[in-house]
Amino acid sequence: MAPAPFVFDNTFARELPGLYVSWKPAAVPAPRLLYLNRDLAAELGLDAGLLAGSEGAALFAGNTVPEGAEPLAQAYAGHQFGGFSPQLGDGRALLLGEVIDRRGERRDIAFKGSGRTPFSRGGDGKAAVGPMLREVIVGEAMHALGIPSTRALAVAGTGEPVYRETALPGAVLTRVAASHLRVGTFQFFAAQGDLDKLRRLADYAIARHDPALSGLEHPGERYFGLLRAVAQRQAARVASWMNVGFIHGVMNTDNMTISGETIDYGPCAFMEAYDPKAVFSSIDRGGRYAYGNQPHAARWNLAKLAEALLPLVADGDDEVAVQRAVAEATEVIDAFAAQYRAALLEGQRAKLGLQTAGSAGSSGSTHDAGEAGDASLAEDWLALLHRERVDFTLAWRRLADAAAGDEAALRASFADARAPEDWLARWHARCAADDAAGEQAGAAPGVLAAARSERMRRTNPFVIPRNHRVEAALAAASEGGDLGPFELLLAAVRRPFEEAPDLVPYGEPAPAELTAGYRTFCGT
Ligand code: AMP
Ligand code: MG
Repeated sequence: MAPAPFVFDNTFARELPGLYVSWKPAAVPAPRLLYLNRDLAAELGLDAGLLAGSEGAALFAGNTVPEGAEPLAQAYAGHQFGGFSPQLGDGRALLLGEVIDRRGERRDIAFKGSGRTPFSRGGDGKAAVGPMLREVIVGEAMHALGIPSTRALAVAGTGEPVYRETALPGAVLTRVAASHLRVGTFQFFAAQGDLDKLRRLADYAIARHDPALSGLEHPGERYFGLLRAVAQRQAARVASWMNVGFIHGVMNTDNMTISGETIDYGPCAFMEAYDPKAVFSSIDRGGRYAYGNQPHAARWNLAKLAEALLPLVADGDDEVAVQRAVAEATEVIDAFAAQYRAALLEGQRAKLGLQTAGSAGSSGSTHDAGEAGDASLAEDWLALLHRERVDFTLAWRRLADAAAGDEAALRASFADARAPEDWLARWHARCAADDAAGEQAGAAPGVLAAARSERMRRTNPFVIPRNHRVEAALAAASEGGDLGPFELLLAAVRRPFEEAPDLVPYGEPAPAELTAGYRTFCGT
């Protein structure tokens, strides 16, 4: 018998009957492999030879279901822009199964765009080439930036059109995730009042993502322990988004994972000129998921997870127990803001080239030192970028040059080269205090400056998936079938911290007029 491409071990299918519907991918007329992620295949311990060629195309288009797969559509609900939909579910996705990767981690292998399911509502269950290649690019960029993310293993063209505003070439994406459990998965069973399924789901999530909680007998410790763990992961993840200027665009509760991975690259975009109000999604008219609102949206989603978990901790008939549980859950939600701020500040310190947390008086002025000092140093820097409409990514990158003594490029990014003067003086003073307090105190100033600059270049990317580059690559692939620009862009976003000559075109901001009119769409 031919070797199987995947070694599946399907705990979700096995342990959670009733939480999904077994289903088959739709057959498509002309499978063609458009993209195979060989690095990820290796990470998963897969033989890329078995995944390429016409067999790979048939596999990744959904025409041949691989041995050991138990395809299923997961049930979930979700708050979409604040309104609750009790039944969403995998309307165009299927979990094929789980594999154990090289590091021993369990990973989901799932299709997106593989046809209608019982959860499709009015949708066609399909996906188009452009948006699936966008998932590849942004997911790989996030991964290269060190941000937890689902990743694409493959994209296969289907050879059939998908009808959106116009007819577009169809595709199926194969997505790899730590799991596809979402806040909305919990909401689905909570809304149905099905405590048995809700409990089985929560225990499954704990076993998979927070096994240290498994031994806890008390439901409050166990299930609010899960809530705390999710809060911690989400605080870290949203902070990392903020520190690279990423705007998810559709932070509905069905798009927020329990694992902490970023999922669903639909109307997402990277910010160009710094603006907390930046929003690109055509359907986000109120700016609910604007750049600066993302931490609030995450906290709001966590409150929905807390509500969904509540019945597992307190029986609705026991009012005292309910009140106690509500108070405990509220404490977790209230703690989120501080967790987020701490994660943000940790990232900002690294971006500023600081290694010490700073202590009051260390820079000679209480105003500029300590916890509040570094936070306000970062805030004032961002306020400066906002006021002067400077490109977020490049400003940080040029600050790394300034750390090594070359301020010219940074100053040139401002219309008035003197605009950053006062702030730079404060930052230099803080850097000097950082050096004096750091492990290498006493090293030559030049050595310390070069080391700081180098550290900053490893945390402040030069290449992000610029919106105009993404659009151009997707248009070439979708309209002319030319994958060249997509491949070049993908190779570039995988080297985010290099500033090599071949990457320079990928580091350039889009023309301002283009960004002003840039819109992303959910109808993917
Ligand atoms: P999303 O906006 O991709 O997070 O999807 C929200 C919900 O709509 C999920 O339940 C999806 O499965 C469903 N959905 C999105 N696009 C389609 C489609 N083309 N056909 C069927 N269901 C879809
Ligand atoms: Mg979604």
